[in-house]
Amino acid sequence: MIIIKKNLCFFIIFLFNFSIKANEMSIEYKEDKPFIIILLGPPGAGKGTQAKQISKLFSIPHISVGDIIREEALHGSSIAMEVKKITDEGKFIPDDLVLKIIEKRISKEINGYILDGFPRNIFQAYFLEKMLSDLNQELTVVFSLNVSPELITERIIYRRTCPNCGAVFNLTTKVPKKEGQCDFCKNELIHRGDDHEDKINFRLSLYNNETVPIIQYYENKEILKEISANESILEVENEIIEYLQNK
Ligand SMILES: [Zn+2]
Repeated sequence: MIIIKKNLCFFIIFLFNFSIKANEMSIEYKEDKPFIIILLGPPGAGKGTQAKQISKLFSIPHISVGDIIREEALHGSSIAMEVKKITDEGKFIPDDLVLKIIEKRISKEINGYILDGFPRNIFQAYFLEKMLSDLNQELTVVFSLNVSPELITERIIYRRTCPNCGAVFNLTTKVPKKEGQCDFCKNELIHRGDDHEDKINFRLSLYNNETVPIIQYYENKEILKEISANESILEVENEIIEYLQNK
């Protein structure tokens, strides 16, 4: 019995080491065309987490509108000032400004990228198509992450964000090492205003009305891959990697 326990213990350690290695390595892929990936999904689907992981594994940049704005704000750019004025008034960033931000960023990328949180509506999707055609770039795949409504609520209300570096934690699934503090930059974590339970229904209806039509649009173009995001972060990640490796 002791021997069995010992073996089991070694086996668990082996599995543990293996999964760490699998996450640390970067994947070589043979591809004539660079990967251009869109991640769609409701709030709480884990888009940001998956995008960061794919970015690391396939060595392509993760482009999120929120992150670009944070970077621009650090440099005090005119776009950042415009955005700040709008969000201070409690308004949404208008399409033309979002498109300006995205265009400026992706025109520099020739080796592929992942778009997280863009496009958000059909107008942005049309614009992106035109922009890609002008840049002679082609979409590889659009992943649509599906999550059950109960899980969305649970994930969002426990989500804590670092306002400084944008890192995302969760009080049940991705607990920060020190309570209330960012693991990476030690900044104090916040519970974002729109991550409170009373705002979730509004955000979901916005997603259903504005973003769900894009899913249909990409499905018609036969470029959509549906992924169930109810599973663990690692399981979702493996499904995405497997798909990309067979591309
Ligand atoms: Zn941080």
